[in-house]
Amino acid sequence: MKIDSLLLFANLSDMQLAVFFLLIFTALILFVSFLWAGVVSVVEKEFRASKRFFLLSVILPLPYLFLAFLEFDFQIPVGIILLVVTYVSLLVLLIPAGKNKSFKSPTPLDRIDERDTMFSRRELVPASDAFQDYYKRKPEKKKADENFRSKAGLLNPASSQYKPIPFASADASFETIAALQDEVNGRVNNKVTNTNPDEISNYLKKWSKKLGAVDCGITALKEYHLYSVGGRKDRRDKPVVNTHKYAIAFTVEMDKEMVGAAPSASIVMESGQQYLESGIIALQVASFIRNLGFEARAHIDGNYEVVCPLVARDAGLGEIGRMGLLMTPKLGPRVRISVVTTNMPLQADKPKYDFSVIDFCTICKKCAEACPSQAISVNDREDINGVKRWQINQEKCFTLWCTLGTDCGRCIAVCPYSHPDNFLHNIVREGNKNSSLFRKVALHLDDYFYGRKPLSAKFPEWANVKPLS
Ligand code: SF4
Ligand code: SF4
Repeated sequence: MKIDSLLLFANLSDMQLAVFFLLIFTALILFVSFLWAGVVSVVEKEFRASKRFFLLSVILPLPYLFLAFLEFDFQIPVGIILLVVTYVSLLVLLIPAGKNKSFKSPTPLDRIDERDTMFSRRELVPASDAFQDYYKRKPEKKKADENFRSKAGLLNPASSQYKPIPFASADASFETIAALQDEVNGRVNNKVTNTNPDEISNYLKKWSKKLGAVDCGITALKEYHLYSVGGRKDRRDKPVVNTHKYAIAFTVEMDKEMVGAAPSASIVMESGQQYLESGIIALQVASFIRNLGFEARAHIDGNYEVVCPLVARDAGLGEIGRMGLLMTPKLGPRVRISVVTTNMPLQADKPKYDFSVIDFCTICKKCAEACPSQAISVNDREDINGVKRWQINQEKCFTLWCTLGTDCGRCIAVCPYSHPDNFLHNIVREGNKNSSLFRKVALHLDDYFYGRKPLSAKFPEWANVKPLS
């Protein structure tokens, strides 16, 4: 097909013209799409991905352009075959498949004892009554706990990721949260202001977003949402009793740049800050509900009666993935959660059980391969306590935290769902929801563009302030 003859359309059949324009159109779409993805990646500081997108923006259109402009035998049939292969592949990827609509996320059979969590075990003072009592009941945990106690500890100057200024910032966030931990309950107004459950639920969702939440969902409070026995501070050894009917869950975003540099000090700065931000939203909403004359308790870092990821999942905010964290639709695990429980009449949301996340986690395993302590299982979900799920080895994970002095967060940083909430990544998220084939292709592409074991991003320059010696 010579270009000069193309300009004289009269010399070409309708078929030749259609193939020519489709080839040019496809080349243009590929060029623009990959160029745009490259620019987005530069903005995201994903330089490996940007180089690859730019390279592909040049390479991928070439076959279409050659077929449009070079003259050779069977040019039209070969052009047609290339176009058919291109568009049929695209269609196949877009066909809904592997949705498993009957999937329901498993419901735990037993309540979790908060005293078994690592933060509760960390509070045990050697030789104290609580210490003796715990290891008398759980002797199998003693060896692993001696191991984490032998390390420097979180935010400790002797830890491997110690940076005095960033650690002091993280400490400041945790100290502020600690100052708020006794404010989770408060006086309930004698005067009750009744509202329509639908309207007030909608109000709470909109208002919490104005306060800084990325999402808010409501669920009926279930028995398994609550710890069985308290494990922190004054609540230790006391059965958890909460008669509220509803739980409101809030998620806040963890900054991509701060998470990307995990396991350096930026991750613990960001965790501390977002525990604080989510906690403040919960405290404010609980106070608001009490002003309307209903009981409300905030559940914030260090003072939870509920298991936040389970509440948030049932409130329709996401699914629980391989690393045991809530995987939200737009930010994956890159969130922190707080909760308010209340007896104010509300409209509960329907849980959005999402099989696509479970299916993606089954094939992905990126967090498990990147985990420096091999705390995340590479196997399929197992039957744990009658429930099919993944469970991380919390002792291995926490021991590494105590070595690093930060909360590590490599799993969150490498997760393909943690990419920013923008059009480029949301196209992939929608495709992942829609088709199991798309998920497989998306995983290979994520490995290609971002790496199977992505390197930690650079520690943010602005935060790299050192004390004068
Ligand atoms: S990294 Fe992969 S396997 Fe791990 S939670 Fe994210 S999607 Fe699931
Ligand atoms: S926080 Fe670090 S050690 Fe813990 S599971 Fe994630 S990657 Fe592994």
